[in-house]
Amino acid sequence: MYFPSQQYVTEDPERAMRLLAHEAVHLLDSRRWTIPLFALSYLFPQVLVLGVLGVPWLGTWAWAFLGFALPWPAPGRFYWEARAYALSMWLRYEAFQTQPYQTYFCSWAYYRMFPFPKKIDRALARWANKIQTAKDPVLHQVWTHYQAAVHTNNL
Ligand SMILES: [Zn+2]
Repeated sequence: MYFPSQQYVTEDPERAMRLLAHEAVHLLDSRRWTIPLFALSYLFPQVLVLGVLGVPWLGTWAWAFLGFALPWPAPGRFYWEARAYALSMWLRYEAFQTQPYQTYFCSWAYYRMFPFPKKIDRALARWANKIQTAKDPVLHQVWTHYQAAVHTNNL
């Protein structure tokens, strides 16, 4: 992960911290699920495009794997990003405000990972509820660290 510029951090330090919190959720999730499982689920089904190289005995039929390069809905990526963006949403608004985040799920920013707005709303609401009730250890851990950092640095 990277910050686009030093100005990005200095002009809105809280935004920069929210970005770090979002990425911390991914890091902790990948540690809990192991990096291979997290990466495969995150990249599925597009990762199946590698089958074009992995099954040479299929001959020209192996080219069919290139179809997985299309922007199919990616349920794993949706799951991981819904968790992290629910935290981003809650840190920013302390309210259910999905509109700014639906764009990420439906647009090319995340390769059109999940173009179903109602399901996005439901997922963000579910994870936001778990943040509020401290029912998810990863989200709760990042939430508490973020709150401590904001108060320590008077942001
Ligand atoms: Zn993310």
